[in-house]
Amino acid sequence: MHGEIRKLLCAACGHTAWHADDLSPADICPACQEPGHLRPDIVWFGEIPYHMDVIQDALDQADIFAAIGTSGIVYPAAGFAEHASHNGRRCHTVELNLAPTGGPFTESIPGPAATTVPAWAANLLSRDPNPKDKS
Ligand SMILES: [Zn+2]
Repeated sequence: MHGEIRKLLCAACGHTAWHADDLSPADICPACQEPGHLRPDIVWFGEIPYHMDVIQDALDQADIFAAIGTSGIVYPAAGFAEHASHNGRRCHTVELNLAPTGGPFTESIPGPAATTVPAWAANLLSRDPNPKDKS
C-alpha cells in the first residue's frame, strides 16, 4: 500500500521501474525523457495508498486481522481493523504493539514485535483450522 522504495516513479508520465541508486533532480525519465520528475515510488502523506481495492476486498474476507507496530491514527490504515471487525465474518482483530492503541481490537498483545509476532504466529499456526468439523 505504501509503494516500493527501490522503484522510481515519473510524476510526469507515471512510468515506474526498479531503481537502486539515489535520484537527483537532473535524472531523466527513461520513458518520457523529461528531467526533474523522478521520485521514489512510495506514497507520501496526503496521497492515496496503492491497491486500496485489493485491501478492501481482503478486509471483507478476513477471519483474522493483525495490526503490527502501528500508531493506529493514520488513515486509511487506521480504519482497517474497524472495517474487518464489521465484515460479517466475526473477524478476530488483534494488535501487536509496544502499548495498546485503544483501537477497535478484540485482542491486544503488548511488547516488541520481534518477540510478540513470532509467538503469536506460532500459536495461531498450532490451532486446529477446522474445530467445528470434529464430532
Ligand atoms: Zn516520464
